[in-house]
Parts: sequence; structure tokens; C-alpha cells
Amino acid sequence: MGNPLLDRRTPQDFAASGQVIEISEKIGNFEKLAEIIKVDLGALEPDKLPRGWRDSPVDGQLRFGFVDAQDGVPALEGQVVATINAVCQRCLEPFCLSLAVEMRLLFAGEQSAGDGGYEVWELKEDKLCPADLVEEALIMAMPFSAMHDIDEHCVEAEAVEDRAEKTVRPFADLKSQMDREN
Ligand SMILES: [Zn+2]
Repeated sequence: MGNPLLDRRTPQDFAASGQVIEISEKIGNFEKLAEIIKVDLGALEPDKLPRGWRDSPVDGQLRFGFVDAQDGVPALEGQVVATINAVCQRCLEPFCLSLAVEMRLLFAGEQSAGDGGYEVWELKEDKLCPADLVEEALIMAMPFSAMHDIDEHCVEAEAVEDRAEKTVRPFADLKSQMDREN
């Protein structure tokens, strides 16, 4: 049996069959997403590169259906959870970022829609591949600047900052003193 996530059908077709897709994938299966992560991790020293980052899980469920009683407007609802290896922009250490994405898409074409909390998804072609939508949603959910949760980590970085501040302050004082004297 094939993986329905990789099927390429029209949204009407997915919706008419009430397609439900269980997602149990790995980051490496999403090429564009993996490329973005690879570039991000490229900032790390080779020995800090997390092994097996491509094997991090992407899980969730997608459900296709029609939003209107006339079965005219196909829609997709779903939840996707992914673990992304990223570089913390504060302490420059690798860490695992959890992405949870809620998808509510409407394939409305030219019809006016967008109500009910759905986002109108414009298809470039008649058919869609659910995996592409999941990948797109995850890429859009990636933080512009990934960081450890404040209370979670960056402990070492904070300690380093503290020390730096204490070491630097005497010089700063000295400098302001010199500025005043000159
Ligand atoms: Zn950090």
C-alpha cells in the first residue's frame, strides 16, 4: 500500500473520499525543509552537529472534507508536530525545537471564502500532494530566530554573559572615567 501523504490528486477527490492521513515521517523525507535545517546547522562546529537530525520525527494527522453542505469547497484540517534540530541564536548551541502546526486550509479557487478560520490555499495546479502542504506549513512555522526557551536552557550562555559583564565592567568604568577626565 502506498503512502497517501505522497498521493497527487485533486482536492475535490481527497475531500470526496473523506481522506484521513496519518503522518509518521522523518524530517529527511521533506527535502526543502531538510535543506533549510542543514544550512542552519552548518553554523555549528562539525563535532557539535547533532547526529541523525534527518531522522527527527514528523507526526500528525490530515483530514480532507467539504466545508459547505453542497460539497463544493474542499478543505483540509490537520495537526502536525515536528522536532527540528536548530542552532540557538543566543548561545549558538544546538537544541531541539518542537513545532506544532495547526492546518485549516480551503481550496476555493475563485470562489469567495476564507471564513470559519480557514486559510485559502491557492493551488498552482489542479492536483496537490499532501506532503507538499505539510512541508510548506512547517517551513512557514519555523521561527525567524530560533532560541532555547528562556527558562529551559542557555544556562551556560547566561553564566558566560554574567562573567563577561563582571570582567568588562571595570574597563567600562575606567573608560567613562577617562572620558570624563579628557
Ligand atoms: Zn541557547
